[in-house]
Amino acid sequence: MKTIKDLGELTGKRVLVRADFNVPLDGTTITDDGRIRAALPTINALREAGAKVILMAHLGRPKGKVVPELSLAPVAKRLGELIDANVALAKDTYGEDAQAKVAAMNSGDAVMLENVRFNPEETSKDAAERSAYAKKIAQLADAFVSDGFGVVHRAQGSNCAIAEFLPSAAGLLVEKEVNALSKATQNPERPLTVVLGGSKVSDKLGVIENLLDKADRLVIGGGMVFTFLKAQGCEVGTSLLEEDMIDTVRKYIETAKNNNVEIVLPTDIVVNAAFPAADAVIAPETVSADAIPADKMGLDIGPESQKLFHDKIVDSKTVVWNGPMGVFEVAQFADGTRAVAQGLVDASKNGAFSIVGGGDSASAVRNLGFDENGFSHISTGGGASLEFLEGKELPGLKVLD
Ligand code: ADP
Ligand code: MG
Repeated sequence: MKTIKDLGELTGKRVLVRADFNVPLDGTTITDDGRIRAALPTINALREAGAKVILMAHLGRPKGKVVPELSLAPVAKRLGELIDANVALAKDTYGEDAQAKVAAMNSGDAVMLENVRFNPEETSKDAAERSAYAKKIAQLADAFVSDGFGVVHRAQGSNCAIAEFLPSAAGLLVEKEVNALSKATQNPERPLTVVLGGSKVSDKLGVIENLLDKADRLVIGGGMVFTFLKAQGCEVGTSLLEEDMIDTVRKYIETAKNNNVEIVLPTDIVVNAAFPAADAVIAPETVSADAIPADKMGLDIGPESQKLFHDKIVDSKTVVWNGPMGVFEVAQFADGTRAVAQGLVDASKNGAFSIVGGGDSASAVRNLGFDENGFSHISTGGGASLEFLEGKELPGLKVLD
């Protein structure tokens, strides 16, 4: 994969940077600027190298139309505050205003192009259409840097097709993500423990299949665990269950046995009468994993399992975690996720390499008050990190080879 160094001398060069600025907004207020901050190393490095930095990104789902509420204006403003410089926002992505704003740039300046998804070609299924559009953006610049890790699993105009027309390289964020995820999945220091949770088995089939022969240990919690428990003959009450996955899961358990991969399942479960809706009564109780009452729903792993999972994680040299252990959004069902996160922190203290992948897992870590520095790496790309863990070739990375 080419990196910024491969682009050579950048003084006075116009560099297009695809970033992931898809931040949560409340009106025009950015409620979490983490994604903007994640792009700063690349933006600063390019500005220090004397480049003219032209930023492009998407925000929300405008579906190929100009939606004023999804303008990147709040992002340009926030970025300006973070780099202590004016970041002009062009009214369009490659039209007259973009051209004029770029023409007026000096070395070290930063300009932002308007939301790339205001253009229907950006996400068009037709590759020729994406190319023709990307060519117009490419005419604004001398080089392309891909730094939006959150979009590298999509073949779109501003992150993929653009590389056909310009010398291209990975930015520092993409480089960091790829290095961390590769370190965990290719030649990991052992034991490698993979912790999987989240809502459904069917969302994580690819990850399980890819890691089943690589991991030493698979720790399973979250909504998907009930299909595993059912596959082993336990009743799961009204818990999330994917009937059509039971046979598949049985095969996984068999394969794991043959490969000497340890599968760790919870021994106790926190249940409630129903899914915790805003107005519902929450009266959690802990039951044995093989004795879930017929009218109860499993919403977290119990205290005994929390300790078990924590200890298995600490006893690892590499830990990859994807998917919360319970409905962590509700305080009464967040303890399992907290125990796993603490396990990663404690493993890291012992010198292990720990990775958090998945959008909800990353936000759980932050919402539960963990210091991000306690983990070796928290991926910024939910879908992209998942597809990386599935062992898929990501189109936005392939074009940087
Ligand atoms: P990630 O984004 O980290 O990959 P997922 O999207 O797969 O994670 O899953 C996250 C969701 O799984 C959370 O919203 C959480 O509430 C839900 N979840 C976890 N455990 C359960 C459970 N026992 N029952 C229902 N939903 C669950
Ligand atoms: Mg998710």
